[in-house]
Amino acid sequence: MERYQGQFISDATRQFLSRSQRMLIGGEWVDAVGGERIEVIDPASGRTFAQVPAGAAADIDRAVMAARNAFEAGAWPKMRPVDRERLLLRFADLIEANAQELAEIEALDNGKPVTMARHVDVALVVDFLRYMAGWATKIEGSTMDVSVPLMRDRELFGFTRREPVGVVGAIIPWNFPLLMAAWKVAPALATGCTMVLKPAEETPLTALRFAELALEAGYPAGVLNVVTGHGHTAGAALAGHKGIEKVAFTGSTEIGKLVGKAAIDNMTRVSLELGGKSPVIVLDDADPAKAAAGAAQAIFFNQGQVCTAGSRLFIHKSRFDEVVEGLSGIASGMKLGPGIDPSTQIGPLVSAIQQRRVLGYIESGFAEGARAAAGGVAGEGDGYFVKPTVLVDTRDNMKVVREEIFGPVVVAMPYDDLDEVARRANDTPYGLAASIWSNDLARVHRLIPKIKAGTVWVNCHNILDNAMPFGGYKQSGIGREMGRAVIDMYTESKSVIMAL
Ligand code: ADP
Repeated sequence: MERYQGQFISDATRQFLSRSQRMLIGGEWVDAVGGERIEVIDPASGRTFAQVPAGAAADIDRAVMAARNAFEAGAWPKMRPVDRERLLLRFADLIEANAQELAEIEALDNGKPVTMARHVDVALVVDFLRYMAGWATKIEGSTMDVSVPLMRDRELFGFTRREPVGVVGAIIPWNFPLLMAAWKVAPALATGCTMVLKPAEETPLTALRFAELALEAGYPAGVLNVVTGHGHTAGAALAGHKGIEKVAFTGSTEIGKLVGKAAIDNMTRVSLELGGKSPVIVLDDADPAKAAAGAAQAIFFNQGQVCTAGSRLFIHKSRFDEVVEGLSGIASGMKLGPGIDPSTQIGPLVSAIQQRRVLGYIESGFAEGARAAAGGVAGEGDGYFVKPTVLVDTRDNMKVVREEIFGPVVVAMPYDDLDEVARRANDTPYGLAASIWSNDLARVHRLIPKIKAGTVWVNCHNILDNAMPFGGYKQSGIGREMGRAVIDMYTESKSVIMAL
């Protein structure tokens, strides 16, 4: 064991960090064609602690070609569904066996608390790979009795097949680097696609270790390729590449629109999981202490850098003061620190840019008349910390209420009745998620259909399950990940009609 920032890290992590990082193309670990590198910064200290290749268009070309070759020739296209299932299970076992190392790398790279990285991020990755492994043998079409008017005398037989969509380009964000990689890679591998994965430039490290474990599990060269690089170069080259059949993107709505436009130009299939400004709605029968604890978890989990973060808190006016007081107490009591410290509850934000952005939003809130019931400032030290913040005295048209902040900042607002809160909850371009806090079944059921969001939680928030489709209404995206729905996103349907 060795120390890093005064905390122990495992030998495996130390070894990973001591090597020169390369990216994976066609089964080979390579540098970028242009030779440039990206500095990887530890957000808890602001210091560079690793470097990765700055891949760009030429590297994307090589990776797409490698993925194309692997899709069309060699062992991969011949693999039976059960072989794909076994490989994914072996991959999951390897992730599990290396869970601590992956969690430590994630905590150092992203800033998130290592205990969360281990028991949420890595644990979910293992579960998801195993869940998707099961789908490999359950992809099916159907048979149809067809009735074609002009061929009355012929016997006809109709059936559908689902076939892998082809080469998939995946572009993922920095908030859950490993988990978002798994969300894209696992369905691709279950369905028989091949992939070029571009992690976010802020957090490229776990994707490299993940790909290394995929090779160790036995995936043929070129099935999974990882190109590290910037969004406007490598990301843009991948999104607009003519050699891929699908783009799977998770990130901001702004970049998602660019990716979607680039993809549609080539008619590349596209799934987009984008931003949110999710409401948390506390009804008057809710226990104020439980609602406060739930609201805290909804916004402060992962430093608020969650697309489903409960960033708009609507509390019935009869409970407003109690819930805000409870929530502010929790916010003020949270322990800030480096992610690698196991006692940390709130880590730094991912980057200096993100910290400035979030503090800028808080300042704009103050300028428009909001007040901080907790936090409202940066944390101490060199890291990119922002104190958990509860803003009150906000109005629906303020920037802090309308725009996605992607940090530990919640706006708390009172409301009078259900129709009013449904209208205000939907008064946003986003529609990713919402939560309702109440035990009044009738009112909860009445509210659920009114909320325009891909996921509605009742008495919980940020809870995902592999079997439940996940995605957004409105500007929160297109398509659904996870569950049966994701199989459709990684396959094409082929209709076959045979005249016997
Ligand atoms: P955030 O605002 O949370 O940083 P982004 O949407 O900017 O999220 O980034 C998500 C992913 O999109 C990252 O991998 C990033 O490199 C990539 N990206 C950024 N700009 C582009 C672009 N113009 N084309 C394709 N990908 C991009």
